[in-house]
Amino acid sequence: MAARSRPARASAVVKANGYGLGIEPVVRTLSEAGCRDFFTATIDEAITARRLAPHAHILVLNGIYPGTEQCFRKHRLTPILCSMEQVQLWDEACTRDGRLPYALHVDTGMNRLGVTMPEALAAAEREDTDRPALIMSHLACADDPDRPENARQLESFQAVRRAFQSIESSLSNSAGIILGGAYLCDLTRPGIALYGGEAVNRAENPMQVVATAKARILQIRRAPAGSTVSYGATVRLPRDTKIAVCAVGYADGYLRSLSGSGIPLRDTDAPAPVASLHGQAIPVLGRVTMDLTMFDVTDVVGQKVRCGDFVELFGKSHRLDDLARSAGTIGYEILTSLGSRYARHYQSSSL
Ligand SMILES: *Cc1c(COP(=O)(O)O)cnc(C)c1O
Repeated sequence: MAARSRPARASAVVKANGYGLGIEPVVRTLSEAGCRDFFTATIDEAITARRLAPHAHILVLNGIYPGTEQCFRKHRLTPILCSMEQVQLWDEACTRDGRLPYALHVDTGMNRLGVTMPEALAAAEREDTDRPALIMSHLACADDPDRPENARQLESFQAVRRAFQSIESSLSNSAGIILGGAYLCDLTRPGIALYGGEAVNRAENPMQVVATAKARILQIRRAPAGSTVSYGATVRLPRDTKIAVCAVGYADGYLRSLSGSGIPLRDTDAPAPVASLHGQAIPVLGRVTMDLTMFDVTDVVGQKVRCGDFVELFGKSHRLDDLARSAGTIGYEILTSLGSRYARHYQSSSL
């Protein structure tokens, strides 16, 4: 991401517990890799990041709300102010306690966070207030490079950049970095790509597999043709079947929409949900339950299927985003839903 961001500097977005993977090892690893700017959503994520990266810039996407000003000061966090109310609140706090850097989020077409374009341009004209250390905006459609909204947002943001001359600017998430060129501005904000996820739809994912999730086989059972599996008896087995009962369920973020059958909410053309065992696809059988999921291991060949073995839910054999498509969602949601019952093990390529 740093290489693709050049000549801009790459930051790291580590919100939602480092996209579910664990903010502490994520921030530590990226700091060691040379990252100097981190974006979090909330203040408590930022306080954690501060502890791990004492010298980094840590910016909080959700900005401030009344009562949090002192916290930003104490932990040297940079708020990303996203409304004129927040600008006012910050200005009052700084008048009282002294100036500190802030960033300004400008909405260029998402109607999520950010001051409006006219508000931003008016703020740029004013001489009585402090200038932001960074201006930023966020792309709504960067995951689809063909969408005309991308160029329109870039054009709006360029107008804001001209108004805030010589102030650093940031526009691109992972997908924006892949758009490249003028989208890069001064500072990029990759998130999902750092964790190996797909940033751009319908394109080859250039990132390596970063995260692997596995679940243990608790029991292997043989069920005769004609019997049914799991709640609702939504699957009737067409043949004698060897079933691996695994210790993973929707309470672990193995979403109920990954059920093999009986879940009407999923896209009907989504690929059937599978895990992987000894490199072979094993279909989910019936409904995913809170703590347990059943897989059809009848066709696994080569190695014996044993109680205590692990099946791969996603990883090198079964990519995160393929699993997400089966669930009718995106890799982001699969990662950030990973539950607290997983034992998380970290490996570093530099070790
Ligand atoms: C989450 C987020 C990012 C990171 O987006 P990815 O698509 O994960 O790269 C960047 N900027 C903002 C404002 C975000 O909310």
